[in-house]
Amino acid sequence: MNIVLLGAPGAGKGTQAQRLVEEFGVAHISTGDLLRAAVKNQTELGVQAKGYMDAGQLVPDELVIGLVKERLGEDDAQKGFLLDGFPRNTAQAVALDSELSEMGRDIDAALLVDVASEVIIERLSSRRVCRDCGYTGTAADESCPRCSGEMYQRDDDKPETVKNRLDVYESQTAPLVEYYKGHGILKSVDGDRPMDVVYADVKEALAL
Ligand code: AMP
Repeated sequence: MNIVLLGAPGAGKGTQAQRLVEEFGVAHISTGDLLRAAVKNQTELGVQAKGYMDAGQLVPDELVIGLVKERLGEDDAQKGFLLDGFPRNTAQAVALDSELSEMGRDIDAALLVDVASEVIIERLSSRRVCRDCGYTGTAADESCPRCSGEMYQRDDDKPETVKNRLDVYESQTAPLVEYYKGHGILKSVDGDRPMDVVYADVKEALAL
């Protein structure tokens, strides 16, 4: 199972990915998570990426593509992967195709989790993430329901940055829907429903 997850920030890609990982044991490769870890650990990549992330802009392609290439080579990704938040533009999609073809692998499906932008704005403003295990919850979670860790609001989920992120999504990432449609591998689910219902549709769309 090699899958690319598409959808606006806050569409629920990460949540659906967590469920697929639990059930099928594939590698969850979230470039946002990898970049946040790099920022937290103050690696050279993290220092370079931070300003772009804080502004809700895309981190330069060469940095992110390198990160994904390295991650796809790790052991757990050999069984299958879910790419979450990558590719984010056509250049990244082309780089991914060429890297996978060098590895003798390909993408089985690009799955769009489709949610209207008004819903996205509301969701992002109430999203909270566990500092310890990365669980995604809402402002109603006082502590992490999975590990009791502290829940916090990502800086880039604050209203001033959310608008930039949605603009970036519309102008740079949304065209990937046509890209993967052209490759005949696009699947789509309506993400504006309870997560269990969405998950059932995800499995059906992926024929799992
Ligand atoms: P996410 O958690 O996917 O919403 O990503 C958070 C931030 O990390 C984005 O707003 C970007 O600044 C950066 N980022 C994540 N994935 C990518 C990517 N594929 N290309 C460029 N920047 C990225």
